[in-house]
Amino acid sequence: MEFGTGNGYSNGNGYTNGNGHTNGNGNYNGNGHVNGNGKANGAKVVKMKPMDSELLREQGHIMVDFIADYYKNLQDSPQDFPVLSQVQPGYLRDMLPDSAPERPESLKELLDDVSKKIMPGITHWQSPSYFAYYASSTSVAGFLGEMLNAGLSVVGFTWLTSPAATELEIIVLDWLAKLLQLPDHFLSTGKGNGGGVIQGTGCEAVLVVVLAARDRILKKVGKTLLPQLVVYGSDQTHSSFRKACLIGGIHEENIRLLKTDSSTNYGMPPESLEEAISHDLAKGFIPFFICATVGTTSSAAVDPLVPLGNIAKKYGIWLHVDAAYAGNACICPEYRKFIDGIENADSFNMNAHKWLFANQTCSPLWVKVCWFYLILNLLFN
Ligand code: PLP
Repeated sequence: MEFGTGNGYSNGNGYTNGNGHTNGNGNYNGNGHVNGNGKANGAKVVKMKPMDSELLREQGHIMVDFIADYYKNLQDSPQDFPVLSQVQPGYLRDMLPDSAPERPESLKELLDDVSKKIMPGITHWQSPSYFAYYASSTSVAGFLGEMLNAGLSVVGFTWLTSPAATELEIIVLDWLAKLLQLPDHFLSTGKGNGGGVIQGTGCEAVLVVVLAARDRILKKVGKTLLPQLVVYGSDQTHSSFRKACLIGGIHEENIRLLKTDSSTNYGMPPESLEEAISHDLAKGFIPFFICATVGTTSSAAVDPLVPLGNIAKKYGIWLHVDAAYAGNACICPEYRKFIDGIENADSFNMNAHKWLFANQTCSPLWVKVCWFYLILNLLFN
């Protein structure tokens, strides 16, 4: 297998040839780094240029060639890339030094290492022969977007830290919400104070809404009642739900995973849900969260959102819809029916890195914020 040969980094005038990087004695030379043996002999310390534009241009091209060759080879000779990595656990430790190298290496050496040591441990998710979990999802557009993002290195934690980041996120998530025909209350321009925000992963999205729902109910009933809070999912719900609840302090024994079977195509039976809620209420528990799924991970089941939404509404319970992979398909008019009933949900998430050609990871989450709780928040915070 050859990766990225003959394209500049292997012809001797690459990273090691004295244009700003390693020289013979293993230190940094000349233009851009520390030269000689540093301050000890009075040598001048030159300013570091971590994002030297010419270096970026030169090495960026080499890296793009390396990646483009990878995709070409993946396509042309899939037999050289077993989808399932053939290495044994711990294989990499024997191939790498015990501690970080003290001397820099050339980009050519690094990419050779990637070919020899890293590639064997890669599961080729983007291979045309990959059929596990979700279909290969990256794309040139997604890749270029990531490149731009890495290049600008935008920090977007408030509007001020990069206004375009916040504004673009809000606008694009409104576009996506419209493509999915989500109800108006999930749009930033809709009534109320809802909208979409990108989370790192589907697991994070579920955690965020469990915490939001928990805070909402605790504001109403009082913090001391945390041990009484109860949540509902099904035995097909993704494991991130249980994890989110545990992180959120919900007692393990208060996580109800309702049994499903083939009679409902492994969807959550609304009758079992209502029965469980009534039973919990009678015992003094506080039902506050239902996690429904459109496209369960292990069985592709779709929970019936219309009756589940009616139950959530009747008992004032937060309904979240996790449509991590299948939600993407609902953009197509012929599949939109799978999220019919979303009107009664409080939140909805899907993973654009699954079927929407975004690179790992991009998990849009939409939340409907109710005026009543906003006012409550303002009064008590
Ligand atoms: N929910 C469902 C239904 C999923 O299929 C997955 C991913 O496999 C997740 C949640 C978790 O998503 P992520 O891997 O982005 O955390």
